[in-house]
Amino acid sequence: MHQLCDKRVVVMGLGRFGGGVGVTRYLVGEGADVLVTDTASEEQLRQSINELDDLSIDIRLGSHVTKDFTDADLVVINPAVDPQQNPYLQAAGDAGVAMTSEIRLLVDRLPERLRTIGVTGSAGKSTVTAMIGHILALPQQYEPAPRVHVGGNLGGSLLTDLDQIDACDWVVLELSSFMLQGLSEDQWSPHIAVITNIWPNHLDRHGTFEDYVQAKQAIVKYQSEDDCAVLRQQDINHFSSQLGHRLESEGVVLLGEPCDSSAGGPFASLCGHQRINAMIASNAASRAGVRDDQIQQGISTFIGLPHRLHRVGIFGGIEFYNDSKATTPQSAIAAMESFSKQCLHVILGGYDKGVELKHLASCASSHCQSVYTVGATGPAIARLCEQQDGGAKVFCCGTLDRAVDQAIANANSGDIVLLSPGCASWDQFENYENRGSAFITAVRRSCCGDP
Ligand code: ADP
Repeated sequence: MHQLCDKRVVVMGLGRFGGGVGVTRYLVGEGADVLVTDTASEEQLRQSINELDDLSIDIRLGSHVTKDFTDADLVVINPAVDPQQNPYLQAAGDAGVAMTSEIRLLVDRLPERLRTIGVTGSAGKSTVTAMIGHILALPQQYEPAPRVHVGGNLGGSLLTDLDQIDACDWVVLELSSFMLQGLSEDQWSPHIAVITNIWPNHLDRHGTFEDYVQAKQAIVKYQSEDDCAVLRQQDINHFSSQLGHRLESEGVVLLGEPCDSSAGGPFASLCGHQRINAMIASNAASRAGVRDDQIQQGISTFIGLPHRLHRVGIFGGIEFYNDSKATTPQSAIAAMESFSKQCLHVILGGYDKGVELKHLASCASSHCQSVYTVGATGPAIARLCEQQDGGAKVFCCGTLDRAVDQAIANANSGDIVLLSPGCASWDQFENYENRGSAFITAVRRSCCGDP
């Protein structure tokens, strides 16, 4: 375990999601002499900087300086930074400086690995993590509910809650491929490993799909015989060599398709991939010893996370869904396939990451009544949809406001308007949360006359 007291610790990458703020607070609390450095400007990081206002730390923004890194005792790397490509980290490595990350510091200090659940996957990590946390935290009939701490990639840092985490508490961690790469260096896997799905993602950083899969494999790689893995049958080929002979044991839960909603059951009210996520979360909770009735209660009372196929409401008979977090074609395709073709109007497009958009356009064209494109990729998606000629009417709208107005004008009572862009938001918005909020505002303005 790294000693922190009186050490010079550099936090590389403050970020906006609370991880950098949390780790900085923790380090200062442990007596470290902290420098926070980020290439983003003070303006861009305003909120995070304000949250550090009361701490006596050094801050260097706008650029990095090599000497900060080579003179440090320890560098805490933000998961968004690629250590393989970063000259400052290479210089620190050459100078023999130790390196770690927020999640590595955390798992190193957790009181009990046997009470950890880790969730990874290409999509659905946050949702499944939050769902498992929600189920576990429900009061039980005979005993007090165990305390549950939810963290990791979901935002914030559990490091600042360490003094409240007991050995009998559950800790549920969303683990990105970047976090797993770091944890792999410590040969750490959670007691219950949950994998939602695997498809190519973050290849700009991982280079190849194989490299990305290899990072994900760390979630089961260091498990022991007594540990458990919950994953889908369709993804088993990516993990079979790590699971080895455990594949035959009860410790590995392989899931098929959830029952169709018409068959009733606990997931009947959920649509599309929400049903899959509920099935995965239920099995993980069951492995954690939760009773079936509590799991069912948890699933039915989980309200979902904002911007992830989130039901905004029904206005003028039209139902609206905000899936702004669908920043990859696969997530948007999964969202479209969650609804029936006859009534679906989808808004697609955004920042151009250079990814293949043909499948997205093909699904939209054949699965929707109409398609409204926005942002940098909008014209290309519209063109591809028209080439596919799957039947959907296509409108190249440019802005989200215009797309919402146009979709509402075309939709009938009983129809669904879905924002599931399949692209990142950065061309027109600061982030996907702002885009989702702009969608809700536009819907309310158009339907309810809100200003
Ligand atoms: P992650 O944390 O992996 O990014 P989220 O739960 O935040 O996943 O969801 C991100 C996007 O992926 C949302 O648009 C959501 O609707 C979609 N999504 C969630 N679960 C699944 C799934 N099982 N399959 C496909 N898409 C999904």
